[in-house]
Amino acid sequence: MKHTIILGTAHLSTTPGKCSPDGRLREYAYSREIVFKLETALKALGYTVFVDYRSAEPDARMHARSWRAAQRLELARRVRIVNDICTRYGTEKCIYVSIHLNAAGADGKWHRARGFSVYVCPDASNDARRLASLFTSTAKSMNLTGNRSIPPQNYWTSNLYVLRHTLCPAVLTENLFQDNRDDVDFLLSDEGRQAIVNLHLNAIEAYSKCCR
Ligand SMILES: [Zn+2]
Repeated sequence: MKHTIILGTAHLSTTPGKCSPDGRLREYAYSREIVFKLETALKALGYTVFVDYRSAEPDARMHARSWRAAQRLELARRVRIVNDICTRYGTEKCIYVSIHLNAAGADGKWHRARGFSVYVCPDASNDARRLASLFTSTAKSMNLTGNRSIPPQNYWTSNLYVLRHTLCPAVLTENLFQDNRDDVDFLLSDEGRQAIVNLHLNAIEAYSKCCR
């Protein structure tokens, strides 16, 4: 069965921080670039694909509020979009993949941590765990796990809003570190961009083949 894939973009252009110390890489923009490339590639393979929040700008309701209040509205809106699609297409047919970049510090400095990791919420379904595990094994096979230790269960758990409140199996991918120089150089290269797209493509294909 071809699943319905809902891709999540990261943050908004107005979210503070969320960039490399030298400003070359901005998480909201990079995430959208990967999401749009992945959307095209998945559609070419016959998947039905949606994006939770395409624009990089806050909408009218979010505007003129503090960024924290805007973020609450943004996250609620992402969840509403995902859950509407789940209701329309069937929760068991959908998966949600939210695409982010990691950071080791929020201090505007470079750090040593490198590599890919993936999160599910603590009470995630078995399907979400299977999807997350496939992401980790794909990242390992592509040599993208850097110097990160990988937990025994193959994924991390965190009570992230978009994972906790969405109905379908949901994972959040942290695609290397925006505050590690080597990761940033790789992410900004053509090879790096393609690797992040391929990682998602391969993991989603593996899930779609093995699950239901
Ligand atoms: Zn993020």
